[in-house]
Amino acid sequence: MIKLAQRMEHIKPSPTLAVDAKAKALKAQGVDVIGFGAGEPDFDTPEHIKQAAVQALKDGFTKYTPAGGTEELKAAVCAKLKKDNNLEYSTSEILISCGAKHSLYNIFQAILNAGNEVIIPAPYWVSYPDMVYLAGGVPVIIPADERSGFKIRPEQLAAAITPRTKAFILNSPSNPTGAAYNREELSALAAVLEKTQLIVISDEIYEKIVYDGNAAPSIVTVAPALRDRALIVNGVSKTYAMTGWRIGYAAGPQSIITAMTNIQSQSTSNPTSIAQKAALAALTGPQDCIAFMTTEFDRRRRFMVERLNKIPGMSCAMPAGAFYTFPSIAGLVGKAAGAYVITDADAFASYLLDTVNVAVVSGSGFGSPAHIRLSYATSFEVIEKGLDRIEQAVRTLV
Ligand code: PLP
Repeated sequence: MIKLAQRMEHIKPSPTLAVDAKAKALKAQGVDVIGFGAGEPDFDTPEHIKQAAVQALKDGFTKYTPAGGTEELKAAVCAKLKKDNNLEYSTSEILISCGAKHSLYNIFQAILNAGNEVIIPAPYWVSYPDMVYLAGGVPVIIPADERSGFKIRPEQLAAAITPRTKAFILNSPSNPTGAAYNREELSALAAVLEKTQLIVISDEIYEKIVYDGNAAPSIVTVAPALRDRALIVNGVSKTYAMTGWRIGYAAGPQSIITAMTNIQSQSTSNPTSIAQKAALAALTGPQDCIAFMTTEFDRRRRFMVERLNKIPGMSCAMPAGAFYTFPSIAGLVGKAAGAYVITDADAFASYLLDTVNVAVVSGSGFGSPAHIRLSYATSFEVIEKGLDRIEQAVRTLV
């Protein structure tokens, strides 16, 4: 019997990728599945970005680059941080990774010792706790729900800090809730953090996908005193519909960036050379694709929230950013249809997939077992059809 490493004890496959894979597999078998699991824009990567990759191929830019990314892409990230976030970074404080996920993974590997705690507000992105465990750390969860707009309060943050706390991670706008912290809320959290030595990790991957004219400021812009121990994580996956290209980045103190670069140089080596050229075109080229995408997401967001709130037993807050709704199914718990008893969101998600072929992600993987996550990064027609089916399935419950 093969014995795996102890660190694998807590590690599960990503439930969001699993739902997506299950829906795709059913589709391949010819089943008419509606998939609300997607964590990626349904738009194509803009043409000028693809062309940059084609050009890179033609130019023979197909060899190793520096493990931490090319100097020109790092410079483009610095320019982006200056222009969008009013933050000054030098290229020695930037790391290019194989996606924002890879940057996050490397951060935890670089900063955590066994038993170090990382504070994570819930609902959280599914990968944070597992990444912390993989680095020997201990996730400490602070809960938030609709009553606080799915945002934590400064008192909660202060109460969660112990002598073992090493870092705090904030994801605004959030996957899965779409909640985005405004300047005042960030200032209040920063006031707590400024009294500590914690490393602040700010996952800003949905920064540009915001609605109603609101911006999602970086906590580092709002509280520059944190800059010397903050890591900003971002990437091109969501903003430019480039999830498959695998380019993300981190900006932070040189000592941590160097450690992360060394991890990369001993593990993955550089992110793909041609994808780096494409990411360069994304960051430096025309930005109108973002407005085009967010306008369409906005239309779907409003429609989805309105429909969900009309389904008895479900209720849904209006997300401020990202491309997910996170409705509560608390009003359905205890109901049943035949052999299906809705005990929690896992049971509800299985019920939907089995009976009406609709794939949603249970909130349990996000630390919120009374919610489900629906992505609206799918066509309006599919959203309409899927919501009809969900409504029909819910009306069958007694
Ligand atoms: N952070 C959050 C909150 C996400 O939702 C995702 C992707 O789903 C990522 C990071 C990772 O993005 P990337 O494709 O750049 O690895």
